[in-house]
Amino acid sequence: MGMTSGLTDIEARVAKACADAGRARDEVQLIAVSKVQPRARVVAVLDEGQRVFGENRVQEAQERWPSLMEDYEGVSLHLIGPLQTNKARVAMEFFDSIHSVDRPKLAQTLARLAQELGQCPDLFVQVNTGEEAQKAGVLPREADGFIADCRGLDLPVKGLMCIPPVEETPALHFALLRKIAERNGLDALSMGMSGDFEQAIAFGATHVRVGSAIFGERDYG
Ligand SMILES: *Cc1c(COP(=O)(O)O)cnc(C)c1O
Repeated sequence: MGMTSGLTDIEARVAKACADAGRARDEVQLIAVSKVQPRARVVAVLDEGQRVFGENRVQEAQERWPSLMEDYEGVSLHLIGPLQTNKARVAMEFFDSIHSVDRPKLAQTLARLAQELGQCPDLFVQVNTGEEAQKAGVLPREADGFIADCRGLDLPVKGLMCIPPVEETPALHFALLRKIAERNGLDALSMGMSGDFEQAIAFGATHVRVGSAIFGERDYG
């Protein structure tokens, strides 16, 4: 037997959070965030059946995943970290979803590439709900305009994503994100991480991004 991860436990907790919220389990996609994790841990989670993964960096994903995808079928990759415009083409070819659409220049580049490639991943607009200077994302008051601009560019915006400030209660941020999504007619909400995914599910998350609770702590050493 290889190593086992926290996947079974987290899967059970996602199922319970869905049940508690009166939601069907298949309304919520569990994204296993594998950034920085050693390959052996990722292989263990693949062996346990997980196929949906999140990565923070285009280059790290490109180094890791092609060989794994030769061994495991049906892998779906989500880019959850910031995207530079000069990596947009690679990202569009490589990822099934991009959760970090956060500025006009990037939206324009993605729109041009979508026309050129004739395809586009599912896109999430990242909203900086805590209005933190160091964090990516459009400000809440700019979100409606930005979403409208994306639609004007024919970009298939599927939903919204947020990363609440660490020192604040996430519920307010989840509620805000949901409100912005509702008034813009968007169905998908990418919110909730290891420490708060159950709460996010209660607030309507459709995509939870769980890393350390599945794989163990990240070692940046
Ligand atoms: C790293 C990361 C996660 C996962 O964080 P954990 O606390 O390990 O679950 C989720 N979302 C984003 C955007 C991240 O960068």
